[in-house]
Amino acid sequence: MDIAMLRRDFPILEQKVNGKRLVYLDSAATSQKPRQVIEALDKYYREYNSNVHRGVHTLGSLATDAYEGARANVAAFIHAPSENQIVFTRGTTESLNMIAQGYARPRLQPGDEIVITPMEHHSNMIPWQQVAQLTGATLKYIPLQPDGTIRLEDVADTITDHTKIVAMVHVSNVLGTINPIKEVAKIAHQHGAIMVVDGAQSVPHMPVDVQDLDCDFLAFSGHKMLGPTGIGVLYGKRKVLEEMEPVHFGGEMIETVELFSSTWKEIPWKFEGGTPIIAGAVGLSAAVDYLREIGMDTVHQMDQDLTRYAMDRLSQLSDITIYGPRGERGGLVTFNLAHVHPHDVSTVLDSEGVAVRAGHHCAQPLMHWLDVAATARASFYLYNTKEDIDVLVQSLETAKEFFG
Ligand code: PLP
Repeated sequence: MDIAMLRRDFPILEQKVNGKRLVYLDSAATSQKPRQVIEALDKYYREYNSNVHRGVHTLGSLATDAYEGARANVAAFIHAPSENQIVFTRGTTESLNMIAQGYARPRLQPGDEIVITPMEHHSNMIPWQQVAQLTGATLKYIPLQPDGTIRLEDVADTITDHTKIVAMVHVSNVLGTINPIKEVAKIAHQHGAIMVVDGAQSVPHMPVDVQDLDCDFLAFSGHKMLGPTGIGVLYGKRKVLEEMEPVHFGGEMIETVELFSSTWKEIPWKFEGGTPIIAGAVGLSAAVDYLREIGMDTVHQMDQDLTRYAMDRLSQLSDITIYGPRGERGGLVTFNLAHVHPHDVSTVLDSEGVAVRAGHHCAQPLMHWLDVAATARASFYLYNTKEDIDVLVQSLETAKEFFG
């Protein structure tokens, strides 16, 4: 892989920040966009912007074909059996809320259980807290091991015949833990529960095959996988999507409307009330094409190489604590420098042109578990290089000197 050539696809990386070469290490928050995605958005707005599924004029047909084509493209990317099992949403958060409100809430009752983990992003925790409060169901947690992984014995001990929903992050945005979703789904199904997967950090970085994982729902965001903000995906097995209620009512999603009652379209359109995120879907489709061209096995390998290099280099720094498993992990490293607040770390790094994230990373319960208020996080994607990590390490030395 010629990274120098690949980087030329990302115009934003050419700039300087604070007089230094931009070293963007915040892709877990949002990825940068290649010119192919930017051009697809530009072309859509310049050449065939129009509403979809309405009217029969030429631009309307072009926009509808592009929008529905994007659905088929995304379906193939995650090996969904049919494009009708891809619902376009605003992102992972909206997808998970739709499952919680449209599938879980009408079904759960006191005595039922929802099982999650303490490493969930708030987006895969609060929707379940809400459903538990509204239905009287019980929220249960699979315990974490000291290295931030889960054990299948604990999964098997936590899930019972009362469990209706198991919801789990595929790759933790804080610890980098890669959870054994396929095995957890198997245990969930043995108890008649459904498996909901937060794929926000996995789908952009590794091959994800929904049929192989055998998950019932998968949620992910376009903006973390080279696509635009404002577009996300909710995949579901046909049966659960058919059982799930829409939560956005209005135009586009109806079959018939009477004064006091209405009927819905088939899946997936019954979930897409209102004018959909047409440009977002077009941009996401271009992002999928870009990733497919490189190959998700290669993307994963690149991530792994960078992460291993970063773990090696960072662990040589004195006074650093690195969180999460030491073995295989997602493309990010979360850490703290002793005696330096992560916000100060991030400020010093910014002055060196290095963008990392500092804070609780939308995982406050996990911060409590780690016994810290906040951490710094460097996260990688296919446009990062080992030199980027060298600059990070050098800048951390500067931060240590400055605050030491
Ligand atoms: N889940 C995980 C693991 C994430 O990392 C994120 C984003 O940071 C989300 C969910 C929420 O994604 P979005 O803000 O795109 O809805």
